[in-house]
Amino acid sequence: YFITFEGGEGAGKTSILQAISDKLSNQGFEVIATREPGGIEIAEKIRQIILDRSHTKMDPRTEALLYAAARRQHLVEKVLPALDQGKVVLCDRFIDSSLAYQGYARELGIDEIYHVNEFAIEGCMPDITLFFDIIPEEGLNRITANKEREQNRLDLEKLHFHEKVYEAYQLLLDKFPERIYKIDASLSLAEVEALAYEKISTFIHE
Ligand code: C5P
Ligand code: MG
Repeated sequence: YFITFEGGEGAGKTSILQAISDKLSNQGFEVIATREPGGIEIAEKIRQIILDRSHTKMDPRTEALLYAAARRQHLVEKVLPALDQGKVVLCDRFIDSSLAYQGYARELGIDEIYHVNEFAIEGCMPDITLFFDIIPEEGLNRITANKEREQNRLDLEKLHFHEKVYEAYQLLLDKFPERIYKIDASLSLAEVEALAYEKISTFIHE
């Protein structure tokens, strides 16, 4: 099963993904926990290029293509082989992040970004996607409180941008009601984790 985690900053995606990965492993599932952009050497290098704040001239379309390129390589090198072996793949961000960040918030168009990504993923959409729903203000507050986060994240984008990202995820929920499942991420981390685990374990046992 290919399961992706989506949402804005500070929704708890990364730590919850790790916790669920451990839990499923203990249940006897073979699990791969990975992230985008990154997860393998080539894609981690592309991630460094994208997230380098000194690249102030990075054109939004260049950025969108780099995300798609990193996605492609990560998919063929890591995700697909794991799925072939019957593993459960938990991925921190996937195509919906591009649709929300580049397509909607950066205003390149959700449909345009979808087409670029169709080329990159050749129909390999997630079986299920969990959207961790938290209003941007609250999510950003959590990050500020977390000193371990990389420092440059905060000023990378402004609240307005994150509000657009949030709006985009709501549009995507309407667009893909069968695939995307909303989780209330404003609850405590333990509660959010329990909700996410319940959804995933029900799904993979069906
Ligand atoms: O997943 P994570 O929070 O580590 O994402 C790293 C950064 O990349 C975030 O600041 C996020 O806003 C940004 N991002 C983006 N477009 C994507 C995926 C992530 O701008 N498609
Ligand atoms: Mg994260």
